[in-house]
Amino acid sequence: MDSTVIDMTTLAGTRLDCTFLVAGGAGFIGSHLCERLLQHGHRVLCLDNFHTGRIENVAHLSGNDRFSVIEHDVAAPPPALRGIDGIFNLASPASPIAYGSDPVGTVRTNVLGTLHLLELATANRARFLQASTSEVYGDPLVHPQPETYWGNVNPTGPRACYDEGKRCAETLVFDFQRSQNLDIKVARIFNTFGPRMRPDDGRVVSNFAVQALQGADITIHGTGAQTRSFCYVDDLVEGLLMLMRSPRAVAGPINLGNPLETPVKDLAQLIAWLTGSPSRLVHVPRPQDDPEVRRPDIERAERELGWRPDTHLVEGLARTINYFEQILGGSERKVGAAE
Ligand code: NAD
Ligand code: UDP
Repeated sequence: MDSTVIDMTTLAGTRLDCTFLVAGGAGFIGSHLCERLLQHGHRVLCLDNFHTGRIENVAHLSGNDRFSVIEHDVAAPPPALRGIDGIFNLASPASPIAYGSDPVGTVRTNVLGTLHLLELATANRARFLQASTSEVYGDPLVHPQPETYWGNVNPTGPRACYDEGKRCAETLVFDFQRSQNLDIKVARIFNTFGPRMRPDDGRVVSNFAVQALQGADITIHGTGAQTRSFCYVDDLVEGLLMLMRSPRAVAGPINLGNPLETPVKDLAQLIAWLTGSPSRLVHVPRPQDDPEVRRPDIERAERELGWRPDTHLVEGLARTINYFEQILGGSERKVGAAE
């Protein structure tokens, strides 16, 4: 093994001076990850082109001299940075509306971007963690989804830019492991929610929370019988950190998500109740290729990382609704006390 490879099994222990590059660090999940890495005492380079992320997400970190922001599009070769111990690659639009509005750009970001960051990791002998997605399973025919399932993806449909882009990114990551002996990790993230989601990004939790708070119709796609499994962002970030500091033999892919499966119509009712909203629940047409079910099998994450999410859906939703209430101009109130 290359003697310059840094053993980050001590990430949460004695070694507090690692330098991490977080690509997509100004996004929803990325900003929470940057925050946690700084809390652990590490240096963080947040690299982002602000396509779907926002500088406001990391503005509160700007006073920390261990934190810096680099504005850069990963589809172009990155600056020749050195001294990096680990790279988290979260750079990609994540909501169907965001990736559907720029499908070619989404492929470029996921394929060229991942390639460029893998080259940077190789030059630094840095550990590399890829933020992959449950979308690699497509509209799954196996339920719940274990990592051994190869998926059911439409390669030519409107979601393909993201699904196939992420699948190709996984391929690149494992090719760099085989060809460059790179120390790699692949996390397959299932629907994650929490504060700092964009109110307008079109995802179900943000849409329903904003609609409920504004008294607008809550737009259920189709019957709402389709299911998702929602993970609170703090739990997810803990899983990403545990994966990054896991032994080299633990490469994944590894599912990170909350196995509590919820029909979309139940989520709508729950959010309406938590906000005490007068909103009507309305049914609108369902997007093409919208997966029918989603639930992670997290046995591997439990066994290999000792990770399991522990934030209850209601608790996570209450915190998220409070966040939206603040940014939409209302004053914070105790959510969950619906009449
Ligand atoms: P997000 O859109 O908030 O964050 C993505 C970040 O990447 C943004 O800051 C954006 O500006 C940045 N970015 C996009 N294209 C870029 C480019 N070409 N160069 C540099 N930066 C770029 O989304 P998120 O929900 O925080 O997702 C983060 C990662 O996790 C994504 O890779 C996403 O695919 C993955 N993921 C998220 C979920 C989820 O439910 N949130 C589920 C599965 C996977
Ligand atoms: N959805 C919905 N109403 C909305 C937004 C989304 O019913 O206003 C549905 C969507 O069709 C899907 C589920 O909620 O069945 C989750 O959608 P999201 O975009 O959050 O995540 P993904 O489809 O990527 O899992």
